[in-house]
Amino acid sequence: MNLMTNAIEAIQVGVEDYKNGSRRRLLASVRNVYAGLLLFYKEALRRKSPPRSDEVLVKAQVKFQKNPSGQIVAIGTGRKTVNVHQIRERFSSLGIKTDWQKFKKVSSVRNDIEHYYPCINAEALQSVIANAFVLLRDFIAKELREDPMCLLGETTWDEMLQIAEVYQAERKACEETMESIDWNSPILSEAVKNLYCAECGVDLLSAIPVNSPRDEVSLKCRACGNGETAEDLIPRAISDELSWEQYLSFTDGNEFPYVSCPECSIEAYIISEEKCAYCDHEATHICIRCGDNILPEELDSSPLCGWCAYMINKND
Ligand SMILES: [Zn+2]
Ligand SMILES: [Zn+2]
Ligand SMILES: [Zn+2]
Repeated sequence: MNLMTNAIEAIQVGVEDYKNGSRRRLLASVRNVYAGLLLFYKEALRRKSPPRSDEVLVKAQVKFQKNPSGQIVAIGTGRKTVNVHQIRERFSSLGIKTDWQKFKKVSSVRNDIEHYYPCINAEALQSVIANAFVLLRDFIAKELREDPMCLLGETTWDEMLQIAEVYQAERKACEETMESIDWNSPILSEAVKNLYCAECGVDLLSAIPVNSPRDEVSLKCRACGNGETAEDLIPRAISDELSWEQYLSFTDGNEFPYVSCPECSIEAYIISEEKCAYCDHEATHICIRCGDNILPEELDSSPLCGWCAYMINKND
């Protein structure tokens, strides 16, 4: 398969679709740009695959074989290629870098687009093209060591650059409103900046009113007008920001990065900050009976650990 040619063409066609501007083509534009990005990621994996491994790093399934000299080698098998999670895992173990927060902004629109289709417009898609532009510019130059403008062609490049500039100005205005709020949590204040609209997936959210207390703030989407209150946006921002850590807690048995707050019950209690990002509640993390650390999933029984709470209830 010629990944590189497919990747370039997907982006070029995606930008043409965007310029055409009809609703059907806008939908195609998001799909093409997203597909193009993934193909560039796969190209990086293909290049790192050892010779005679059937492009093992690009394949979803891997089998092991003995080569003629008796060594065990990994060989790609089947037709299925890696999914996004696999790409991310392989990038992280191979030291290939891309901005996953930005990638998520593209994929969120891609995932929400069917549902959002009735009110889609060209402005709403600027974020996809603009974020993809920045991702491609950095990834192609730094990881593939090629010139992104030569690769994508001057027409496509200029078009993307113009869209990105308009979008950057909008984005900056949004970020300023976010910075006017005292989020009182480093993770949350980072999370709201990376947040995208729950309705349309676009990352053009303004905090209103500016300078308001955290629990009274709402977000308004500049692309589709959707509004969201603090009670909804705070847990959503946290689950989004910490989704990779959450994923690792399931796959690698790491500690949960956040849990539902023992005080307000909102899924906003950040373990590393030992505090609820919604109501500021600070639970006791050391069991008062046995002195052990209380596991995140047992914070409900704080100031006792799960075991001590069980023992006390049993003796009642
Ligand atoms: Zn929206
Ligand atoms: Zn709380
Ligand atoms: Zn205990």
